[in-house]
Amino acid sequence: MIDYGLQGRVALVTGGGGGIGRASALAFARSGASVVVSDVDDGQGSETVHLIRSRGGNAIYSRCDVSDPAQVQGMVASAVDTFGRLDCAFNNAGINSIMLDEYDDEVWSRAISVNLTGVMMCMREAAAVMVKQGGGAIVNTASINGVVGNPGQPAYTAAKHGVVGLTRHGALRWASSGIRVNAVCPGVIDTPMTEQVAADPALRAMIEGMTPIGRMGRAEEVAEAVVWLCSDAASFVTGHPLLVDGGATAI
Ligand code: NAP
Repeated sequence: MIDYGLQGRVALVTGGGGGIGRASALAFARSGASVVVSDVDDGQGSETVHLIRSRGGNAIYSRCDVSDPAQVQGMVASAVDTFGRLDCAFNNAGINSIMLDEYDDEVWSRAISVNLTGVMMCMREAAAVMVKQGGGAIVNTASINGVVGNPGQPAYTAAKHGVVGLTRHGALRWASSGIRVNAVCPGVIDTPMTEQVAADPALRAMIEGMTPIGRMGRAEEVAEAVVWLCSDAASFVTGHPLLVDGGATAI
């Protein structure tokens, strides 16, 4: 594992109790950052904090439903109150309503509210702190569904395309403030979100067949991209939707 040199920096991870978020929180800590782990699942979020501390890292848990503006403000405030600054914001929390009809008004609203509006609010609040500080790095979680269509999931696809657009907007808006804004676009990654896919041999084989590398991705592989994007190694990279998809969209 590469050390991206984040000693003395503070990283905030939403959805930090789950697959990609937890792997990223651990990766931030491994590179020396103090980490604010946020989630709606207190048990899972606290477990991520425990894992970081048990490896000698520094972390706190801050509960936040990213679709609630007051909770988002509270989460960012807890990072600044505890650690005095915010250098890296990984706006990652998301939901997948694959088993539901996303044209249903309630399902649509919830999917957009968490996957797009939630990312916007987290980015807005993090950027406000970073502007005052004179810089920072933001990574938003999109998806391959942010760059290609998906016939089954209109809301998820619209939200993730929105995240890519929002990322480009943020990169332009805050470049002169020393803030870089990028996105990661994962392919199908083996996490709790996709456990139904992973457990079904036929579905898993289909996914693997659609992925040139021939397997589902690992959360740690996305985490590497996230921490790199937040590090000084990516100092000239901004506004970029980085595909981490085993070649799925290269076909
Ligand atoms: P995951 O394992 O389900 O983890 C997501 C975490 O976010 C969970 O702990 C979840 O809590 C939490 N969460 C859900 N709604 C939230 C809310 N409103 N506010 C704060 N936290 C919330 O999912 P993942 O696979 O790591 O996915 C992380 C991100 O990657 C999502 O944005 C997802 O769309 C994106 N992504 C995933 C894949 C994939 O194949 N896994 C591919 C492309 C993009 P609960 O468990 O209580 O819901």
